[in-house]
Amino acid sequence: MLKTLLANVDGMVYRRRLDSEWTMEFVSQGCQRVTGHQPADLLLNRRVAYDELTLPDDRLWVREAIRCAVAEFRAFDLEYRIVHADGGVRWVWERGTGVIDVEGRPIALEGLIQDITKRKSAETALREAERRYHGLFDNAIEGIFRTTVEGNYLDANPALAHIYGFGSPQELMVSLQDIGRQLYVDPQRRDEFMRIVKARGSVTGFESQVYRKNGDVIWISENARVVISEDGRPLAYEGTVEDITERRLYQTRIEHQANYDTLTGLANRSLLQDRLEQALLTATSFGTRIAVAFVDLDRFKFINDSLGHHVGDELLKEVAARLQSCVRDCDTVARLGGDEFVLLINGHSGPESVRQTMECMLAAVAQPWTVEQGEFDVSCSIGVALHPEDGEEARTLLKHADSAMYRAKDSGRNNFQFFTRELNTLMTERLEMESHLRRALDRQQFVLCYQPRIDLDGGRIVAAEALLRWRIPQRGTITPQRFIALAEETGLIVPIGKWVLQTACAQNKAWQDEGLPPIVVSVNVSARQFRQENIVSTVAEVLRDTGLEARYLELELTESMVMHDAPQLVAMLDELKQLGVLIAVDDFGTGYSSLSYLKRFPVDRLKIDRSFVEHIASDADDATIVRTIIALGHNLGLKVVAEGVESDEQLRFLRSNLCDEAQGFLISRPVSHRVLRRMFTTRSKRDLRA
Ligand code: C2E
Ligand code: MG
Ligand code: MG
Repeated sequence: MLKTLLANVDGMVYRRRLDSEWTMEFVSQGCQRVTGHQPADLLLNRRVAYDELTLPDDRLWVREAIRCAVAEFRAFDLEYRIVHADGGVRWVWERGTGVIDVEGRPIALEGLIQDITKRKSAETALREAERRYHGLFDNAIEGIFRTTVEGNYLDANPALAHIYGFGSPQELMVSLQDIGRQLYVDPQRRDEFMRIVKARGSVTGFESQVYRKNGDVIWISENARVVISEDGRPLAYEGTVEDITERRLYQTRIEHQANYDTLTGLANRSLLQDRLEQALLTATSFGTRIAVAFVDLDRFKFINDSLGHHVGDELLKEVAARLQSCVRDCDTVARLGGDEFVLLINGHSGPESVRQTMECMLAAVAQPWTVEQGEFDVSCSIGVALHPEDGEEARTLLKHADSAMYRAKDSGRNNFQFFTRELNTLMTERLEMESHLRRALDRQQFVLCYQPRIDLDGGRIVAAEALLRWRIPQRGTITPQRFIALAEETGLIVPIGKWVLQTACAQNKAWQDEGLPPIVVSVNVSARQFRQENIVSTVAEVLRDTGLEARYLELELTESMVMHDAPQLVAMLDELKQLGVLIAVDDFGTGYSSLSYLKRFPVDRLKIDRSFVEHIASDADDATIVRTIIALGHNLGLKVVAEGVESDEQLRFLRSNLCDEAQGFLISRPVSHRVLRRMFTTRSKRDLRA
């Protein structure tokens, strides 16, 4: 019985000597399973000694541990490794005691050795897994936590401590005792969080603001779930925390950009649209009154072109602030782009109160504006449309306010106009005009007339300015004031301008071919032509086609345009100059010019604007201005032309102040090419001297 019992034990029961071989005196059948050797082979070291089976690394300490236990009359319990007969290493668990003789001397060991390799590898796997998970927990970028239901931390990883501004998870867990009150900026957020977790068992992407240790407020996003005990009670919460402050900031910035103008911080077009729609809904339901005002700066282009875009930007910011100062919080000032602003007045008491607001705005904008470059007078033109009288829809109101604004511009700027029915008609006409203008070239409705320019010394006709006329059958002749701006806006000025250049050059060549004394033909050129096409090659092409010598062509550029000191413009003018074409500055004196451009641009002539010439005989200031321009021109080696000469008095003044040339109704109105040809023959020097 003892034999079978021993044989059935899971492991090897043994008795061995305390010698250096661990000589076995008895081994049970289990030896075969544990070591792979037959018991007989191990017995009395017949084939192999147990000490040899012990893994060399473990031999020493195992022997020492057993020696100690035996010396102290203790049982021993060890785990170590042996080498199996198959060459593999096995973990064994040995428990035993020393056997002593009658005199109390240890003589042998008895005990049990079991193979625990399976258990050992399971343990290692478990440890490995734990180590891995801990690594994840410790190294995660997201904060990970476990809390009690009451809101105390059970666990927190370094990332969470970092997010909340603590030095370590331990510090965090000690410091944050009441999450709801200490952490959340809005304690109700915590309640909301709990409510969702309780109701659904989990929560994802829950965003809230929390305090960091140093008091900074950050945005976090939480995912969490409730851990349920076996009997169904909530045990804890566990989840992750992400710092989304950057993302939130970015989002707000994007939202802001989508709704606000970056330069001025005012509402932009899309926000205005929203607010206007909203206001209209309220107005329709509650009968509140709305007004929409379109504000456009006067002569903003001059300032922008002459002083540079950064100064232009400063002006826009300043104007934005001034406009804003005239309205209440419930109103909206928006910038549509460029120098266009729209004001939405929400709930006013009637046209009179709107009028007051508009007057306030005109006055605010008209305050002198001082920058490094000097002091400037700024003004704006405003058009107003009222709801519901002038329109029911946002689009109509804006459109009508816009056309009222154009009316304000037409009536001399720096004023405001309410929309009227007849304005509507004007607007329709404008649209109609645009569609007619598009076809005018094809229909050959343009003609040029020519206004002669005389030399004040001898009175000879030295030049003729080509002035555009638009003849529409049944409607008569339209002067450039009424359509040039439209042609510029629509870009039609480019093909039209080319036609003018072609026709004027061809005409001048024709006069010369007829044997008339050669004169210069002067052609007005718009800024848009310089921007849109290669004006240099167009001019060269026209001169080639018509055979006109370049020195008989003069291009008139407005002052505002020349002042725009763009390097490309200088380059283009230089190229034109190379061709041999003359350059004149038209309407001189009307731009906010620094005059320094005159040195850099290859200019031949200054044409003093009509507005100065008009009063030279009666206004001392104008007389001084004209005299100064003449002197300035001469100092720079330029010829000076006076425009709009209507009286003998003016002519005398100009002649005595040594102005070079004159043009105006006194000499001749703009006339057809036939009339001009006749003038060469009939007009004598005597007529002019008279
Ligand atoms: P601008 O170049 O300054 O042309 C002179 C304008 O003054 C002409 O008006 C002319 O008829 C007018 N004028 C001449 N002498 C007198 C005078 O003694 N008294 C008065 N009260 N007016 C006088 P117009 O022909 O109506 O042209 C107006 C403006 O339209 C021109 O001013 C020019 O800037 C522009 N323009 C005319 N033709 C063209 C063109 O072919 N292309 C471009 N881009 N602009 C043009
Ligand atoms: Mg001109
Ligand atoms: Mg002019």
